[in-house]
Amino acid sequence: MSTLSIRDLHVSVNTGEGEVKEILKGVDLTINSGETHAIMGPNGSGKSTLAYSIAGHPKYDITGGSVTLDGEDVLAMSVDERARAGLFLAMQYPVEVPGVSVSNFLRTAKTALDGEAPKLRTWMKDLKGAMSDLQMDDSFAQRNVNEGFSGGEKKRHEIMQLELLKPKMAILDETDSGLDIDALRVVSEGVNRAKAETGSGVLLITHYTRILRYIKPDFVHVFVGGRIVEEGGPELSERLESEGYERYVAGAGAAT
Ligand code: ADP
Ligand code: MG
Ligand code: MG
Repeated sequence: MSTLSIRDLHVSVNTGEGEVKEILKGVDLTINSGETHAIMGPNGSGKSTLAYSIAGHPKYDITGGSVTLDGEDVLAMSVDERARAGLFLAMQYPVEVPGVSVSNFLRTAKTALDGEAPKLRTWMKDLKGAMSDLQMDDSFAQRNVNEGFSGGEKKRHEIMQLELLKPKMAILDETDSGLDIDALRVVSEGVNRAKAETGSGVLLITHYTRILRYIKPDFVHVFVGGRIVEEGGPELSERLESEGYERYVAGAGAAT
């Protein structure tokens, strides 16, 4: 069993005009293997900042608190070390990787994670299996990473990584944005499958409730103004669907 533990995390960004703005104002969250946590909140509340901070994006300055994976200090790790430790953060990868095919990219990532190259025959079988599960054509493997990918292809590529790299903890930021209803279902099924196969913990960040019809969260956290303001079970997302974030935002003050 693995545990990702976030304690009183404070994060600031330099806005570029010599101004430092605190975005995360003391986030506490614990995710165990096999659990799905949904973070829901309005635009600008700091959800992506949380994901980027765990990923080790240099723009975000950790001013207080801790993030540990099984007791190891994640914040002291390089981005590569975080991946090797078993954290999956889709946004840590470059937007486009010119000249590198999906197939080579994934095999290289797998090799880096495992410390040895997967056997070619097994690998090809796993790769094809992952693509067919996600209803993708075989030719996708030969395309350059993210070059000309549609929104849906980008998300499917993320889920392929999840299925093939088998992380301990997966953080998915707005996996539902830009997907039509069929793609949403296929992508959600991919997350569920990867979770069932590897027992990963999943942190699902979203501001829509619709993806939660397909990926059932065990815990829902409402995120407003840089912190978690309420926690509950799946029933909380249903309440958010009907009531929105109004009452939280009125209390906490909108981030933007
Ligand atoms: P969410 O994902 O919930 O929509 P974000 O984490 O993207 O929110 O942003 C939270 C707040 O932090 C917003 O006000 C945003 O403008 C600000 N912010 C985030 N990243 C940066 C940055 N790199 N530079 C300046 N402001 C930023
Ligand atoms: Mg604090
Ligand atoms: Mg965001």
